[in-house]
Amino acid sequence: MEGKGTIYTQQIHPNDLKVLESMTGSRAWDSDIFSKVMVALAKLKEGNYIPSTNRPDSVHLQNLMRIMNDLLRRTEETKKEHARIILADTQAEKLVAGKLLIGDENSVTIMEEKQPGREKMQKVIGTMHTHPGGERALVYGLSDGDYKGFMRDKHHQVMLISYGDLKERYAIMVMKTSVTPNNISPENIKRRIEECNKEFLKNLEVWDIHKFVNFNKAICLEFGLTMYLATPKTRDLFERVNVAV
Ligand SMILES: [Zn+2]
Repeated sequence: MEGKGTIYTQQIHPNDLKVLESMTGSRAWDSDIFSKVMVALAKLKEGNYIPSTNRPDSVHLQNLMRIMNDLLRRTEETKKEHARIILADTQAEKLVAGKLLIGDENSVTIMEEKQPGREKMQKVIGTMHTHPGGERALVYGLSDGDYKGFMRDKHHQVMLISYGDLKERYAIMVMKTSVTPNNISPENIKRRIEECNKEFLKNLEVWDIHKFVNFNKAICLEFGLTMYLATPKTRDLFERVNVAV
């Protein structure tokens, strides 16, 4: 995970770190803790993420998943990918969803648009998008393109994706931590993701869902990301996935 010439540069004031550590102390986060942590991180210099030792075992995200359900419903109707950015409003101290974007896996570049008049107070902390169902393999996880964008944007903390349909909804969340390198070049990010891609996603003619799961786990391991899964059974509760393969 570390090594390969990566130097992690954390620039955080000891007092801010103390606050962040106490805020993230719970093993089971509810929506309220999640949004408080995200707002606190948005106030810090970019490239600061939650302490890796305090990664929660579960995160309950009923508020964000209400928005995700709407994206999934639109995806079901149109068979197109839908996305929104997630903003932290540092003055109102809450999370806000950005405007709706529609496209497909290759055409949705998530644009960072803030609410008019609130540009200074709002920081992008993440993205959420859907993968339309059907034959396309990458419905079962985040794609290499998704990870490239996520790793390139240092102020992004979380990335959420949902697939399946409203009756059988699955969702994955990946979250950066203090062991996520925040100073690797875009070329290096691309190379490391493509190495995982080559290793895990070869021979795709042979259908195997485990290939996608392992690809996602490998990327998380590579970049010190923590990964969560919500299933039709756990509904809005995201449980941590062990990414060691
Ligand atoms: Zn995607």
